[in-house]
Amino acid sequence: MPHPTDDIIRAMQSPSDEDQKAIQDAYEFAEKAHGEEKRKSGEPYIVHPTTIAKTLATLGMDRDTIIAGILHDTIEDTPVTADEIEQRFGKTVRFLVEGVTKLSKLKYRGVERHVESLRRLLVATASDIRVIIIKLADRLHNMETLKHVEPVEKRNRIALETREIYVPIAERLGIGLMKARLEDLAMKTLEPEKYAETERFLRERETAAKEPLGKAVNELRRALAESDMRDFSTESRVKNVHSYSTKLVRKDNDPDKVYDILAIRVIVPSVDDCYRVLGLVHKIWTPIPGRIKDYIAFPKPNGYRTLHTTVITPQKLIVEVQIRSEEMQQKSKFGVAAHFLYKQPSSEKPGKKGFMAHLLPHLLRITKHDDPAAPAPRWLKELNVAAEEYGENAEFREALAEDFFARRIFVFTPKGDVIDLPIGATAVDFAYAVHTDLVDRMAGAKVNGKLVPLDTELKRGDMIEIQTKKQPSAPNKKWLDFAKTASARRHIRARVKKYNAN
Ligand code: MN
Repeated sequence: MPHPTDDIIRAMQSPSDEDQKAIQDAYEFAEKAHGEEKRKSGEPYIVHPTTIAKTLATLGMDRDTIIAGILHDTIEDTPVTADEIEQRFGKTVRFLVEGVTKLSKLKYRGVERHVESLRRLLVATASDIRVIIIKLADRLHNMETLKHVEPVEKRNRIALETREIYVPIAERLGIGLMKARLEDLAMKTLEPEKYAETERFLRERETAAKEPLGKAVNELRRALAESDMRDFSTESRVKNVHSYSTKLVRKDNDPDKVYDILAIRVIVPSVDDCYRVLGLVHKIWTPIPGRIKDYIAFPKPNGYRTLHTTVITPQKLIVEVQIRSEEMQQKSKFGVAAHFLYKQPSSEKPGKKGFMAHLLPHLLRITKHDDPAAPAPRWLKELNVAAEEYGENAEFREALAEDFFARRIFVFTPKGDVIDLPIGATAVDFAYAVHTDLVDRMAGAKVNGKLVPLDTELKRGDMIEIQTKKQPSAPNKKWLDFAKTASARRHIRARVKKYNAN
């Protein structure tokens, strides 16, 4: 009997009968819970969680994560409670659904300097890598159906949030598949004309290259088979719209200088095989000088590993050949999710949370200086190393996790903007972080609706409202005794001096 979850099961790595039953059960539970609810597109609501679950299955996520994907909107949108979810699907599923629900409460207000904080907060709040991956899958489907959202301002806000928050997270998690889709969909909304034009160009290139590209792939496959390379697979790809258009700008807007519009990928079992294939490719085709890149010996900052070379085929086709091992292929598409493919940890095992605690400090290194071209921190590599060390040194793990949380707190403005402050910070630091001039107008502060002395230490999650006076004047010198951030203290000192001079 066909079941609406059949696509999900098919996308899973090696589903057991028990997995299948549990997933069908979750589907029926969610379908009933969402009832008559509809998406903006007019489709029954259940289509949305089902699509997300399929994405999660494609990413190789475990059963609990897939089930949590199916249930992800039930707590927020239906009468279903967390207790019911736990009773029926277990503690882990409850934990994941609650995590996603918590994240959906965070709002992006478009204040550029708070984007960084929100990304951090998102990652910190999630507290489990699987929650973030569910959230990314959720966002992907919301972006795919964004055209049904009205008005245009709301669409743009969601697209901007995707570009500023979710694309960088997908990128840092190394989930190439997700990153490319999300950034294209954001561009499609935010720059529709440029997107359409670029897409048209790429599709034309694709059509024109179809025949010679097919011939080239066949030629290469024959050569590989003849060199008794037993185990290999090939695929070809066209660059995604957003990454092509950014690259085009770097190449003086000259499409002929973008050599990797078309690429052929060769996937082989081992690193040794990769180098052998490179030799073979250069034997049958003419390499373009200066275009060989060994990202195996020198991985990109986000951990990407593959050999690249650009060649001209006898059909006069310029194409980039990307050679990688099966493991590199998985990692480049699925990023951290690939860990679930390789070491399927039992969902019953405690310590999954510990795994995340171990990864968090690495994920949180989302800094302002992360231009991919710059020598960025090799955080993903560290993350992979960290993942391997996991379980071996619990103390080290905890120390790392605590390190970040021991130093920072996140608090909110009345509008829901997130402000990231050091521990021990006060309303004065908060005011300075919100707006430099706010300190000069500050008369008092309310924390969670209550008036408090200005030297009160803020706590994680506090909502702070600064009360202002009409005329700015010199900040109180005494504030220097308790202002925690150096920038606020510097500002206060400078203003005190300035006002005294007048
Ligand atoms: Mn959703």
